[in-house]
Amino acid sequence: MNLRSLPERKPFLTAALALVTLAALAAGAISAEPRAKDLFGARKLPAVAAAQSFGFYSKGCFAGGVALPMDGPTWEVMRPSRNRRWGHPAMIALIEKLSRDAQADGWPGLLVGDVSQPRGGPMTTGHASHQIGLDADIWLTPMPKRPLTMAQRESMSATLMVDEKTHLVKEALWTPQHTRLLKRAASYPEVERILVNPGIKKKLCDTVTGDRSWLRKIRPFWGHDYHFHMRIGCQPGSPFCKAQETTPDDDGCGKPLAWWFTEEPWRPNKNPDAPKARDLMTMANLPKQCQGVVDAPDAPSLEAVTYRGGSAAAIAVAEPAPDAPAETISSGAGSMPAAANAFAPTPKIGIPVPRPRPGN
Ligand SMILES: [Zn+2]
Repeated sequence: MNLRSLPERKPFLTAALALVTLAALAAGAISAEPRAKDLFGARKLPAVAAAQSFGFYSKGCFAGGVALPMDGPTWEVMRPSRNRRWGHPAMIALIEKLSRDAQADGWPGLLVGDVSQPRGGPMTTGHASHQIGLDADIWLTPMPKRPLTMAQRESMSATLMVDEKTHLVKEALWTPQHTRLLKRAASYPEVERILVNPGIKKKLCDTVTGDRSWLRKIRPFWGHDYHFHMRIGCQPGSPFCKAQETTPDDDGCGKPLAWWFTEEPWRPNKNPDAPKARDLMTMANLPKQCQGVVDAPDAPSLEAVTYRGGSAAAIAVAEPAPDAPAETISSGAGSMPAAANAFAPTPKIGIPVPRPRPGN
């Protein structure tokens, strides 16, 4: 999600900011409260802890993050300099799984866009969400045959799949493989929503036959015309993660979709220069645990927190909070047979893979 900030939050934030400013003036302070995006943006490595998300997708942070490796047999990380290939271990495991499943479906491999910063939190540019390690952007461009260089990953332009005037999918670009990729992503139980441009949603509504139940998870939104946004639910072990509303039961192809093809959603923003929520947030606006997350010491090395098909996930859950459920990965590679893993052979002896508590 990257186009519009959440308007309903602005009055509150503006008021909060006004209070902070007043307090600072009263105290004779010169500098304003530091912005949360600057504090989180400055951290290059995650905090080592049990994997846990705090707060909401657009207002939170997470601990125990792991990095998706820059390359795998079935994916490449795009815009690597942004350092946004971090997520909750369950999210990273799922991206890896999707990349394998998609290739088996006939998609050459994933170009992975932004996931999260190492500790989540608001970003210096772009997205309103992606703050708790449970959102990932995947390009709608298949992975090219020749490996992309790091320079190409920074500069390669994305393919816009939707005509900006008609808001309809460009027919020459859309393929059944695109549909299959979205269907595969929606098939995972932990995926709660997939955000796509309204034109893409319409294309699916108009063409998907047979099982249409997965269309419920495909949600139209501004932007998302060169990538889709995959969001998973709050994971076990994250009692302070705030769940989103569940999507309605129907396929979403009726009235709510028709609204996107009226003039209303495309009217120019009345107040285009209004600051975005993520630009205003201070630590006081985030869940209180986020201060501890942003202050925690760095993981010992990038390698130690890079996902390797189970090992990093195991590191991230090595010290679960006493009252947290022992299993914090719902689709972790830890539960997959080694042969099914893109990173195999990587035997991980000596790091016990956590098991669910009996009765859980
Ligand atoms: Zn996104």
